[in-house]
Amino acid sequence: MKATLLHGPKDIRVGEVPDPALRESTDAIVRVTHACICGSDLWPYRGVGLGSEDGSAAEPQRIGHEFLGVVEETGSDVNSLQRGEVVVSPFTFSDGNCEFCDDGLHTSCVNGGMWGSDGVDGGQGEAVRVPRAEGTLVRLPGGADEALSASLLTLSDVFSTGHHAAVSASVRQGSTVVVVGDGAVGLSGVLASARLGAGRIVIMGRHTPRTDLAKRFGATDVVPERGAEGIERVRELTGGHGAPHVLECVGTDDSLATAVGVVRDGGSIGRVGAPTYANIPQSAEAFFRNVTISGGVAPARNYIPELLPDVLEGRVQPGLVFDKTVGLDDVAEGYRAMHEREALKVLVRP
Ligand SMILES: [Zn+2]
Repeated sequence: MKATLLHGPKDIRVGEVPDPALRESTDAIVRVTHACICGSDLWPYRGVGLGSEDGSAAEPQRIGHEFLGVVEETGSDVNSLQRGEVVVSPFTFSDGNCEFCDDGLHTSCVNGGMWGSDGVDGGQGEAVRVPRAEGTLVRLPGGADEALSASLLTLSDVFSTGHHAAVSASVRQGSTVVVVGDGAVGLSGVLASARLGAGRIVIMGRHTPRTDLAKRFGATDVVPERGAEGIERVRELTGGHGAPHVLECVGTDDSLATAVGVVRDGGSIGRVGAPTYANIPQSAEAFFRNVTISGGVAPARNYIPELLPDVLEGRVQPGLVFDKTVGLDDVAEGYRAMHEREALKVLVRP
C-alpha cells in the first residue's frame, strides 16, 4: 500500500510500504478515508528531532496521527467493532481499561502509544493497523456522511485539543477567555470555549482569514498586537486585570509569556501548544500572582464521546479549519502549504 514517508527535512514523499496485517488479537485494520496534517507534523518535516546531525532521517519515517476510516479486519479479541463500520481514531492509541484510561487520561495508557513509530503505522497512508482497537477507535453511528467527515476528523486531534485547552483553563458558562494563537488549535479553542458557554472570547492573532473564522466560531474581540503591546491591549479589554481563563495554543516561549501576561491573578492557563520551550517562562511571576498553569497533551479519546453528538447534529462545525485538500500522492504539497502558512490545515484523501 501507499503511505507518507519522511526522508529528511522538507523531503516528504508517498512510497510503497508493506500492507498492514493483524499482529495481536486486539488489533484491527482500518482503511483510511480521511487523514490530515497536524501543526506538530511540521516539526519533523522541518528536521526537528529526526535524529541525525544533518537532520536526515536514519530511515524513512511513517507520519500522521489523525484519521478516519472503515474497519476492514478485526483480531479475534475485538468484539465491539465490525468490518465495514466507520470509525475515527484519536491521535494516540489506548486500551481503554487501565488506571489512566479509567481516569480519562488515555494519553498515559500503560498499553498505549503513538502512531508512526515503533512498528506502528502512521495515519497518512492507505491503511493502518490499529493496536488496542476496542479501546482506541470510536464508531461513528450512521457511517461517513461526507459533509460531516471533515468535522468528524477534527475529533481525532485538533478540536479535542482545543477542548482540552478550554477544560484545562476551567472555561464555563459566562467565562471571559483569551486564546493565544490563531492556528487551527487556537481556532478550535475558540469554538470549544463558545460551546462551553463562554461570554467573551478574545483571540490574539493577526492573520485576518483566521481571525475571521475565529469570529465565526464565537470570538468577540480580536487583538492583532503581540508582546507587551498585545498584553496591554487585552488588559484594556478585560477591565485592566486580564482574563481568568487563557488558552495557550502555540507552544513557544513568547506565547506562554503572553498567556501569563494576559491572565488575571488567580486565573488559569490551559496550555496545549506542544512546547518548544525548555522551562516555563515567568514562573516566579505566575507564582506570586497565584496563576495556575495547567493543560498538556490532550486525551482526545476521553473527549470524543462528549463532543461527537454536537458534531453529528451540526451544532459545531470544527471542520471549517480545513482550507485545503490534497490527494495522498500530493501530500508533499500539503506540507509545503502548511509550512509556508499558505494553508491553515490540510485534509488528505487517500
Ligand atoms: Zn489504558
